[in-house]
Amino acid sequence: MTELVFATNNRHKLEEIQHLLGDKIHLLSLTDIGCFDDIPENQPTLEGNAAEKSFYIYRKFGKNCFADDTGLEIEALGGEPGVYSARYAGEEKSPEANMAKVLEKMAKIKNRKARFRTVISLVIDGREVQFEGIVEGKILTERRGTDGFGYDPIFLPDGFDRSFAEMTIHEKNQISHRGRAVARLVDYLKKLE
Ligand code: IMP
Repeated sequence: MTELVFATNNRHKLEEIQHLLGDKIHLLSLTDIGCFDDIPENQPTLEGNAAEKSFYIYRKFGKNCFADDTGLEIEALGGEPGVYSARYAGEEKSPEANMAKVLEKMAKIKNRKARFRTVISLVIDGREVQFEGIVEGKILTERRGTDGFGYDPIFLPDGFDRSFAEMTIHEKNQISHRGRAVARLVDYLKKLE
């Protein structure tokens, strides 16, 4: 295998994984393969959504592909916002409104345990393999830090005294859910070479 589609248009994410993979496998973005579709993400789980995206590309474009899906899972809220993380406070997908909703729901709750979980679905020749990455932590009582995106300002990873939004991108990548899932994917792909 020499080419692999990453179902994203985020150049930054793509280049980072390309760098980890080396030059034997060439990663292609959705734009690179001429895919401008609104790829369906209608499943009730991260696993289902990641698979829906990777199989969509595989079936429509006949190319090997991987796709990821991530959610913040808060124990005291029964795993919410989970698969609905991006649109927790509404379809406008506002990170500010999403964080405000979490902080409000958690206002009187002592158990602050939460985790980020990423699932990557890789489809090669019609066969799927999944990789998971998890980072455990706690929901803060207020926002801290300005870096990162999404729920970063209210997430404190276990073993650290800084929120994800108070870390550099490099520090965060080393311990993050996405970083861990990607490391497993890269490991797997390197063994196929
Ligand atoms: P996606 O599957 O990577 O698009 O992530 C779905 C949603 O989860 C995003 O819109 C964010 O709200 C949240 N999210 C994913 N990764 C992170 C992260 O690293 N930090 C904070 N929030 C994240």
